[in-house]
Amino acid sequence: MKNVFNFSAGPAMLPYEVMAQAKEEFLNWRDSGCSVMEVSHRGKDFIDVAAQAERDLRDLLNVPDNYHVLFTHGGGRGQFAAVPLNLSSQDQSSLHLVSGSWSEGAVSEAQKYNKPVVVGNVSEKDGKQFVEKPAFDASWSEAAYYHFCPNETVDGIEFTWLPEAGDVPLVADMSSTILSRPLNVSDYGVIYAGAQKNIGPSGLSVVIVREDLVGNARQETPSIFDYSLLAGSDSMYNTPPTFSWYLAGLVFKWLKAQGGLEVIDKRNDEKATLLYTEIDNSDFYQSQVHPANRSRMNVPFQLAQPDLDSVFLKKAEEAGLMALKGHRSVGGMRASIYNAMPVEGVVALVEFMQEFERTHG
Ligand code: PMP
Repeated sequence: MKNVFNFSAGPAMLPYEVMAQAKEEFLNWRDSGCSVMEVSHRGKDFIDVAAQAERDLRDLLNVPDNYHVLFTHGGGRGQFAAVPLNLSSQDQSSLHLVSGSWSEGAVSEAQKYNKPVVVGNVSEKDGKQFVEKPAFDASWSEAAYYHFCPNETVDGIEFTWLPEAGDVPLVADMSSTILSRPLNVSDYGVIYAGAQKNIGPSGLSVVIVREDLVGNARQETPSIFDYSLLAGSDSMYNTPPTFSWYLAGLVFKWLKAQGGLEVIDKRNDEKATLLYTEIDNSDFYQSQVHPANRSRMNVPFQLAQPDLDSVFLKKAEEAGLMALKGHRSVGGMRASIYNAMPVEGVVALVEFMQEFERTHG
């Protein structure tokens, strides 16, 4: 087997043990002679898998009983549309904190369905990108919901505080941070995430929605996006992405076997500290994000000499360190270090960065 560490932002690497198990049972799942992706979603075996995955996710995140957990289609962007359609009328406003390109994308999509109001933007502090918590304004209280993205995958901007929203339900795009730390689900009206970073393969999205926010979808809402239809059918209103759902279930079991989110949280701290310490200790590498908002999942960094970018990437690949090229809108490098990235992967990257600086700095 090729021994590499994959720093892709998503679809991203999955835990080795999960992939090994999927391989083991790929052709003959549960002694059925078939693959899990060849059986009906309405058969007892798959229903067991689906229900177990939901139970494990509920355990991991301590999801209260008054929340539905939906396994659905359309990725993160699907929810950019599903949220306004389920939660707002055309004349209502939605509040948006724009902390990077994905929360910006949510505003553009909401513009089709309601009246989005941007209540905060990325600013600068000490010459670095910084997100200030907007003070609550009483005039916002009529808004349908308050949308934010606690971890911006492209920009590498993360914050762990909750926006002040009064009684307006908080809606969080957690595509690139879900399951990276414990969470108090009761603080949110809706949490959603595309699967392809910390949950499983692409094609699946997870929505955790408070009961009272379900059942108000607009008449024109596509049925597959209607939270009420999804909740009422155990997310089987139509054929769900069964293989992704099965694999997500294996990832949830893996997370539990690791010791749950407290253990994962510490490991994520350890990995991010290793990498940011290297960036801070060197003039050769730089981060454009203020230390208060540095993402633990996506670490963009720049070389002081951008003309070395392509050599850096080539040598990194030769060393088995894959997919480090930064997003085209940011440039430079980006190391995505989701839950599945072992500490050794980050150590290997830091050692490579030190060696590259020694030989090219
Ligand atoms: N939100 C965030 C934070 C993301 O990182 C992404 C994808 N990288 C999206 C939304 C869009 O997700 P998808 O491609 O699954 O629609």
